[in-house]
Amino acid sequence: MKMLINGQRTGASDGGVLEVCNPATGALLDTVPAATAADLERALTAAQKGWPAWAGTPLFERGAILRRFVRSIDEHNEELSLLLCREMGKPISEARNDFGSVKHLFNGFVEAANQLTGMTMPLGVQEGREKDFELAIREPLGVVACIIPFNAPLVLFSHKVAPALIAGNAVIVKPASDDPLVLLRLGELLWEAGVPGDVFQMITGSGAQIGSLLAGDPRVAKVSFTGSTEVGLAIARAAAANMGHTGLELGGNAPFVVMADADIDRAAAEAAAGRATYVTGQICNVAKRFLIHRSVKAAFTANLIDRLQKIIIGDPEDPATQMGTLISESAAREVERQVAHTVSQGAKLIYGGVRSGAYYTPAVLDEVTGAMDIAHDMEVFGPVFPLLTFDTLEEAIDLSNDTIFGLGAGIMTGDMSIALRFAMAVQAGSVIINGQSFYRSFMMPFGGYKQSGGGREGLTVSLQEVTQLKSIVFKNVL
Ligand code: NAD
Repeated sequence: MKMLINGQRTGASDGGVLEVCNPATGALLDTVPAATAADLERALTAAQKGWPAWAGTPLFERGAILRRFVRSIDEHNEELSLLLCREMGKPISEARNDFGSVKHLFNGFVEAANQLTGMTMPLGVQEGREKDFELAIREPLGVVACIIPFNAPLVLFSHKVAPALIAGNAVIVKPASDDPLVLLRLGELLWEAGVPGDVFQMITGSGAQIGSLLAGDPRVAKVSFTGSTEVGLAIARAAAANMGHTGLELGGNAPFVVMADADIDRAAAEAAAGRATYVTGQICNVAKRFLIHRSVKAAFTANLIDRLQKIIIGDPEDPATQMGTLISESAAREVERQVAHTVSQGAKLIYGGVRSGAYYTPAVLDEVTGAMDIAHDMEVFGPVFPLLTFDTLEEAIDLSNDTIFGLGAGIMTGDMSIALRFAMAVQAGSVIINGQSFYRSFMMPFGGYKQSGGGREGLTVSLQEVTQLKSIVFKNVL
């Protein structure tokens, strides 16, 4: 496929390409251009020229265009689902469901934009300003760069692109190199629906090269990034050089605390469903550390393993498959390495952990202690269950907070006083009671504490994050 620059489907200026392969079979699916600095320059020049006219287009017209895009998704659902399934190794049943989020979020931001009001200041508050009338309006930022990770391309594209476009910004998307195809198709559909070619663009290529040039360019008013903490820190530094805005949604190592009084069957179901079967555990906010009260540890472990044994792992294109591959063989090898590292630090691999190409069976690590890297800052992006034991709530809270991350946390208990004490004490952007942290609704302000990020995304907050307030004063009019 080609990149989308200034209304044209285009290759790289030097003809360079990146291969996109099916992780389940290794087969080449397609190539995408490896953008050069000259390609990026064309996109930035176009975006800077394009956004003022888009910002001046009435809101109802921008909304009508985005709603037309939403309708076109239904017409292409099967084609898009298969593309997503093949480039991610994602079960086809899961892929088909994912498009509901795109539609909901685009429609939701179109509606929310109608409520994006400014403010009028109260009159006569300050001596000497009694005759002035002050108001503040919201304006777009300009050019917004949206840099997207491989693991949830559709929902993250929607959380970034929909608010930025409806608010009148130009957008340049940089998808992950492992799975750019479905997003390129969505970009084509945005153009076909009527978004101008200089207002929505997409460049493909190496994150380290083209992504970092994009993030550091002074013409980019905001970098909206989701990805690893390591890259997020580099982006924050690059954008700061130009006083650029950033929205950073980064890595996590969320604790899932199971108290002595918890419903063990439900706790194990919560653990298994998020960590193994959705995107093969490659989720930022999913539980990655399992803190189990000593008295229920054996029962929880047996129940969890029983559930993991029943998961149907296999060909992502088979509708019966519940768990496909990781994003690539190298990603699966990295998970294998992290598990071996944890075993070398004293943990016991008591179930699974078998790799074949990009497939990796869910792994249960027992006897994990607070002395091991996996208990703190080593994020494992795959279906791995490190089990830690605790005796008191205070101990569970200390373990939960002993990490650079603060994205999500979850607790299972029947005692709402304990649940609330945990929720107040844990340093995380979202805390789930009666469930694990794999939870993100369209509305909630989603984001991280500590090195899990800065800024929030969601239908309730994103429009504020892609606009800025301008104060306008009528002096001496009263
Ligand atoms: P990644 O950081 O390797 O890459 C993310 C994107 O950044 C890709 O498009 C990549 O090409 C680009 N990139 C790489 N280096 C860059 C650079 N120097 N400058 C600019 N762009 C660059 O992340 P990944 O492996 O694709 O995704 C997994 C990570 O993302 C995990 O850490 C996960 O927790 C995190 N994540 C966080 C959230 C969240 O909402 N907090 C959601 C999903 C994933």
